[in-house]
Amino acid sequence: MDNIRMVDLKGQHESIKEEIKLEIDQVLNNTSFINGPAVNEFQKDLEKFNQVKHVIPCANGTDALQIALMALDLKPGDEVITTDFTFISTIEVIALLRLKPVLVDIDINTFNLNIDHIKRAITNKTKVILPVHIFGQVSDMEEIMKIARNNNIIVLEDNAQAIGAVYTNYKGKKVKSGAIGDISATSFFPSKNLGGYGDGGAIFTNNSLLEKKVRAIANHGMFKRYYHDYVGLNSRLDSIQAAILKVKLKYLDSYNEKRKKAAKIYNKFLEKRSDIIVPFIKGEIDSHVFHQYTIRVDSKKRDLLASFLQENKIPYGIYYPVPLHLQKAYVNNQFKNENFINTNKVVKEVISLPMHTELTFDQIEYISNKIIEFLNK
Ligand SMILES: *Cc1c(COP(=O)(O)O)cnc(C)c1O
Repeated sequence: MDNIRMVDLKGQHESIKEEIKLEIDQVLNNTSFINGPAVNEFQKDLEKFNQVKHVIPCANGTDALQIALMALDLKPGDEVITTDFTFISTIEVIALLRLKPVLVDIDINTFNLNIDHIKRAITNKTKVILPVHIFGQVSDMEEIMKIARNNNIIVLEDNAQAIGAVYTNYKGKKVKSGAIGDISATSFFPSKNLGGYGDGGAIFTNNSLLEKKVRAIANHGMFKRYYHDYVGLNSRLDSIQAAILKVKLKYLDSYNEKRKKAAKIYNKFLEKRSDIIVPFIKGEIDSHVFHQYTIRVDSKKRDLLASFLQENKIPYGIYYPVPLHLQKAYVNNQFKNENFINTNKVVKEVISLPMHTELTFDQIEYISNKIIEFLNK
């Protein structure tokens, strides 16, 4: 079977290209390439979609994390608790701002922050907890918010992989990911669940004071043009990207449904195997929007399976091959390898399978059968 893609942006674009063209043409016609009406319209639409008071668009998800942290009045050396198992941006911005990353181990089932490890990592310098909703599954936010409130700590959600996920709290109340913590950051990188046709990102908050500061920092630290109250940066979402994202936002729920459906089909083929661990969903199914469909296999077989898939023209991803505490740029004597039992284990076992909105039943069946064929050898 040919043409299986890890992410199928082409197929998705085909189905909306007329709408996209119209929107882009509008930007071209009014030449408002920076901060044009499309940016404001997208912002309003996203606020409504995500049930959050304020969305502040910016240039990419990494900037969104950095700007959010810059708005929090932190001092060098203040501690930010985050996960050992994530994309590098999360720790990168902490380091750039001279804050102290405090990495903690993950829950072996969800790959998200382990609550007990968060509790143990808290000191009187802890200012922020930064949960990453990895692979599209919302972290244990009720517990995290409880810990944060009890200790006067701010919660910054890294929602780059989970936009559109719905978290149900213990009382049954439903909240969209990215609207639970004090502030959150997301990315519109093309392969994300809501992806533009280039870079993009946004900060979300329900706090109106934070919103003003965030908006100023993203725009050279100014409220009034040429009057700079903060050290800021130049981080904007292009009008053309906003116009594209405005169209795609309308389909985000249906895109996420398609991902969930693909995940269910994979599960159907793979979950009965004792040598495959399929994604574990904690709580309601809607709390996972399957940015990735990531299985675990025996660490001795993982790389061989990867080669076998490649030979069979099935793309895959290893997210992530190295935990943050072992990344060369961040190695430090406060990260003790023995404190990261779960991340050290899963980095050798995980393999992410093709996951996007255009996958067919036949493709998923084919991929699953190939995996089973390999494991039966
Ligand atoms: C993609 C991603 C980012 C960064 O987003 P960019 O737009 O690529 O800068 C940050 N955190 C996580 C968890 C991501 O997956």
